[in-house]
Amino acid sequence: MSRVRTTCPYCGVGCGLVAEHLPEGGVRVSADADHPANLGRICVKGAALGDTLGLAGRQLYPEVDGGRVPWDAALETAARKLQETVREHGPQAVAFYASGQLLTEDYYVANKLMKGFIGAGNIDTNSRLCMASAVVGYKRAFGADVVPCSYRDLEQTDLIVLVGSNAAWTHPVLYQRIAQAKQDNPALQVVVVDPRRTATCDIADLHLRLAPGSDAGLYAGLLRAVCEQRPLAAAQFAGQEAALASAQGWSVDNVAHYCDLDRDVVTDFYRRFVTAPRAMTLYTMGINQSSTGSDKCNAIINAHLASGQIGRVGCGPFSLTGQPNAMGGREVGGLANQLACHMQFVPQDIARLGRFWGSERIAATPGLMAVELFDAIERGEVKAVWIMGTNPAVSLPDSDKVNRALAACPLVIVSEVSAGTDTGRHAHICFPALAWGEKNGTVTNSERRISRQRPFMPPPGEARADWWILAQVARGMGYGAAFGWQHPHEIFCEHAALSGFENAGRRAFDISGLADLTREQYDQLSPVQWPVNAAHPQGSERMLNEGRGWGVETRLTMVPVTPQRYREANAPGLVLNTGRYRDQWHTMTRTGTVPRLMQHSPLPRVAIHPEDARRCRVTDGQPVKLTSPCGTMTGFAQLTDDQAPGTLFAPMHWNRQFASESGVNSLVAGHCDPHSGQPESKQTAVTLSGW
Ligand code: SF4
Repeated sequence: MSRVRTTCPYCGVGCGLVAEHLPEGGVRVSADADHPANLGRICVKGAALGDTLGLAGRQLYPEVDGGRVPWDAALETAARKLQETVREHGPQAVAFYASGQLLTEDYYVANKLMKGFIGAGNIDTNSRLCMASAVVGYKRAFGADVVPCSYRDLEQTDLIVLVGSNAAWTHPVLYQRIAQAKQDNPALQVVVVDPRRTATCDIADLHLRLAPGSDAGLYAGLLRAVCEQRPLAAAQFAGQEAALASAQGWSVDNVAHYCDLDRDVVTDFYRRFVTAPRAMTLYTMGINQSSTGSDKCNAIINAHLASGQIGRVGCGPFSLTGQPNAMGGREVGGLANQLACHMQFVPQDIARLGRFWGSERIAATPGLMAVELFDAIERGEVKAVWIMGTNPAVSLPDSDKVNRALAACPLVIVSEVSAGTDTGRHAHICFPALAWGEKNGTVTNSERRISRQRPFMPPPGEARADWWILAQVARGMGYGAAFGWQHPHEIFCEHAALSGFENAGRRAFDISGLADLTREQYDQLSPVQWPVNAAHPQGSERMLNEGRGWGVETRLTMVPVTPQRYREANAPGLVLNTGRYRDQWHTMTRTGTVPRLMQHSPLPRVAIHPEDARRCRVTDGQPVKLTSPCGTMTGFAQLTDDQAPGTLFAPMHWNRQFASESGVNSLVAGHCDPHSGQPESKQTAVTLSGW
């Protein structure tokens, strides 16, 4: 019975797993006791991975215009049509839309082809929907996309504040670690800040059920409370005076009014934070998915900087990523507004990248971010899009508009594991991609830990690795010399070498210590946290040590914040919050095929407070229809006082493939944060009616 150590393909916890082929057939997936992310823990989704490995519903052969074709023909058609688009309309008419499901090696090749050789910045990713605001928050505060914390801090802290995070369902193994830490150390306090009462509240000492979108006001008040207890020395941080001035108006009374909280609850929270020797704030979609998400992130970071709760064991503002390789995408430049290895669109970095890649066509300006990319397709400005490992026809805001845009786009290429997805229905060229268990490469989790995904299944049908498909198309476009890899190990080493190229402390992301791995060392690579370089050959558990910057050129910065709740705060109706169920992943193309995962919640339920249900004349279990200016969604009412009056919650998972008329993203408008481009998926004004 062979055992292969690998990494989970679902959430950003990045658990280490062991896959074993059973003598009677099938694969058992269990937790890897030695992986530092999970230390032998696993959640229900991870444990059911063995049930998702069947070939039913797989895209197994290349297709052009709906018909099966040989690989050569599909690759030649894609390369020729992309070249024709560039020739006739320029490089800006081409775009890639990638995914936090891609491995780092796949992502690296996609970014190199688009930004290095096609010559446009137009590669963005579904990670834009997930943590782009957190990236902006870190970059504004630290000068780089640096996550200061580690999971091990969870067991070495005195206070954990979870803001906008239902970790019990969305990062289950981290929740298990926190629950265990609390059991081992009853003095550990847990505070949950969330408009809903969620499963995460089961271990909370205090739940702040604040008004939707009011988090920045709460943290502005915390900054003021911290500085009243321990005034900052002058000019300790860049931007300090302006940030403190912006917090001045946030007295406890004003915070209580703004957040719709009891003032004693606010005071209690501030007292716990100010007196905790070590405190962490864990935040995720409830903060990031906002039209002011970047400011919300900086409001959190400001409080940590002012209180000294950063750069020490058990301290820090900790953004949890949603996907298995959201962080890897950030590292390779998978976001349209950055270049590879944390380089920026500045002349020095553009020239540096040109020297390394041997290209004179490096993109000179940032590309289109997710929502604006599909808007540009709808306007006819982008005429060719290659979508990899994601289902934007369901998962992007205003998804009806996305479907219209794709239907009218002259060239849609889709690289997919699943056949017949909502996005795949628009494809002119469809490439069959390898799935988890077949792929070979690396991912990076929320704590900067690079970890191997290893194959333990043979490639089915004619499916191939995403990096291979991209490299073949690049060669067909005439860029062969730069895309000649034979194995993902070679791509990883090139990526690692680039991270150290002319770096000398300029960029935080540096894994040059891994650039010379042999193939065997790559295969055996143990999970390691970046940076990994000459100064940190074993990796780095914590960054911003003792509150200092990460490099010679860094100065920590406080950002002034003007709290705003959400764009449609004054619109009539109920406010809809969207999110995940415990046992489902994204648009259910994988988890939706597993009966035991479907049992947890077999239908899309719309959680509603009983008072609102009475007012809307809706009973428990009744079919309901939600309507916004963008579209409609149907579901089934679930009456619960876990939901605050005036608010609703609906899952993001259901789509046409699973017999829903349309998904929740039909309702969500594409209001985006002006700094991060992240859409406001967490607050949408809707009306509800029974039917
Ligand atoms: Fe996978 Fe996340 Fe569950 Fe870990 S917690 S097993 S990474 S889904």
